[in-house]
Amino acid sequence: MPKLVIREDRCKSCGICVEFCPEHCLEIGDPLNTMGYRPVVLKDEEACKSCGVCARMCPDVVLEVWKVR
Ligand code: SF4
Ligand code: SF4
Repeated sequence: MPKLVIREDRCKSCGICVEFCPEHCLEIGDPLNTMGYRPVVLKDEEACKSCGVCARMCPDVVLEVWKVR
């Protein structure tokens, strides 16, 4: 199972990770963070392959990807 750690308060809702996720399993969420942005959420945990593309693309180091065995 994949595990995606989202440091929500650092996310600026730029959407880069959403665009680059090859499995299309990320989206911009609804709730606001402390900076007034809407942090990204993992909408489909089953689809996430823990590839790490999102974490590498994020300019604000919001995402951390683990592979849970
Ligand atoms: S680890 Fe890969 S599959 Fe999972 S959300 Fe990030 S880019 Fe998408
Ligand atoms: S997690 Fe990073 S790349 Fe994704 S929307 Fe937030 S700031 Fe942008």
